[in-house]
Amino acid sequence: MHLQSFSFKKGFRALGRCPKVVLTADRTLMSPYRGISLASFFGCAPALDFNRDHDSFWYHVLGNQVTPRVLFDFICNTIDHTNGHANYAPYGLRKVEAALLRDGYKREDVVIAHPDHVEKFIGPETDVVGTYEMDPLGMGPVTMTFTYGRKHMSYDEFYNRDLHYRINAAKARTGSKAKVVAGASGTWQYNYDPAKIEEYGLYGIVEGELGGIGPEIDGAAGPFFDALAAGEFDTANPFKKSQFKVEIKEFVRNDKTLHGRFIHYWNEPSVDEIPNIVNPSMHGMIEVMRGCGRGCKFCDVTLRPLRYYPVEKVQKEIEINMKYGGLKNAWVHSDDIFVYGLNPRTTKNMQPNREAIEELFEGIMATGIEHANPTHGTLAGAIADERLIPNLSKIIRSGPHNHIGIQCGFETGSIRLIGKYADRKLSPYRPDEWHWVVKNGIKTLNENYWVPAFTLIMGLDNDETPEDSWETIQLIHEIETEQPNSRFTATPLTFVPIGLLEKSDFYDIGNTMDAPKLGVMYKTWQHNFKYGIQRFMGKVGHDNPIKNWFFTQLASTLGGVPLSAMEKFARRKGAEHERVIEKIKANYW
Ligand code: SF4
Repeated sequence: MHLQSFSFKKGFRALGRCPKVVLTADRTLMSPYRGISLASFFGCAPALDFNRDHDSFWYHVLGNQVTPRVLFDFICNTIDHTNGHANYAPYGLRKVEAALLRDGYKREDVVIAHPDHVEKFIGPETDVVGTYEMDPLGMGPVTMTFTYGRKHMSYDEFYNRDLHYRINAAKARTGSKAKVVAGASGTWQYNYDPAKIEEYGLYGIVEGELGGIGPEIDGAAGPFFDALAAGEFDTANPFKKSQFKVEIKEFVRNDKTLHGRFIHYWNEPSVDEIPNIVNPSMHGMIEVMRGCGRGCKFCDVTLRPLRYYPVEKVQKEIEINMKYGGLKNAWVHSDDIFVYGLNPRTTKNMQPNREAIEELFEGIMATGIEHANPTHGTLAGAIADERLIPNLSKIIRSGPHNHIGIQCGFETGSIRLIGKYADRKLSPYRPDEWHWVVKNGIKTLNENYWVPAFTLIMGLDNDETPEDSWETIQLIHEIETEQPNSRFTATPLTFVPIGLLEKSDFYDIGNTMDAPKLGVMYKTWQHNFKYGIQRFMGKVGHDNPIKNWFFTQLASTLGGVPLSAMEKFARRKGAEHERVIEKIKANYW
């Protein structure tokens, strides 16, 4: 593995100065997770419970720790580095690095630092430290679910906090005046806990116009970092013509007034203006499209204009990952891969452009990689053309020893909710065909060795009734009984107000989870435990008794512990919650 670099071996001491721009991300975003792709969700796990009773058994065993740190750190192992430079980095950071080089920054002035070595690069000459943040305060839907609405601190938040404390310590030690700027898709969270802006010493937070999405700053990275370094964002000047807008937000919390500098950038670069990465990305991630034309109201991706990478551009990024990272796989980032190459305005019923998708994957495999899988896709898109999945499977050589994992939105089993919030997600089918689409989608994918990882939304727009929840439980159970060998996982996520629903309230899982919603959570975990984790973990460790023991233990922790925690929660809540658990055990197991 060798990064494309100026002289990383010598490091910056030989140069006599620190780089102008230091980019980094916390440990949870810079881990290969021991090659287990499912484990990348582990950052959402609860780390600390500050309210644990000091007399309790668990306090004596673990102190405040919820998921033992030693276990977490083992699974979330850190990425390799070369003299402190991360050998692999989140795709978004690689894009910013590439954009800065394109816009005239010298190689030695831009680094992507390994989180454990960020101090090495911060000094008097550093203008900006940019942090890439996906879930900085543990408010993402998965994390909110695992931490009972932030009653515990998640590992995402724990390590992001750790990173900021270390950046600030390095600045204090070296007298650096570097401006610390947080960017990427999780920065909206600072609006909901603005005290952290001051605690972390953030100069600015990069925000988009649309639903708070991290903007596509790789279209204008050079001008952006120039303006930052020159102090142009110090004050908000509404009269100055600029592609960036500074907004000083004021928050009043517990009689205290807090401020935060939010920097908006709302242009979306055309495909030609998006640079190609120049060094390897985490997990071999490459991108083939931005935006999605399906218009689900709860999703911010859909607010972006649709753009597709041509095949040659995709190939160039894979070649970088192969040449400099030794990678043999491509994680094909797509918001809905089955939309690739179609024009939603002119294409009737979102019918997939099969030729374009086949051509894309033929081009991807022609680079010589051994495994490719799209990150996201819709079930309706997967079955709308019956030749699509079988043809694609031949191209990417899926088979019993090469399963293709794909994340799909299951969202809800409720016909009412899917019709109200995501009707085009089903196109070309109608909302009343949703159950049929889900069942056939799973069947088609599984027959071709694809395994969908479903996400569900709990408390969608705070509009989910008990009947909606039971429809979800019923649908999962029907799939299990009608297709007992089907393979899929289902992860319930609590509703977070983004996209067209950004003015709505968070779904407060800690205080407002009624009994049927607990039932949805319980049913999905029971499914994952029985049909997913146990089978998957057994497979991972089948060749080695020690590994087998370890993964069996892990399986029972990941599966069994949440189930008993939910049963305990139900007992605390009262008879109605307990009845729901019993009903699921009796009728939907
Ligand atoms: S299909 Fe997926 S990516 Fe597209 S708008 Fe709906 S939720 Fe968002």
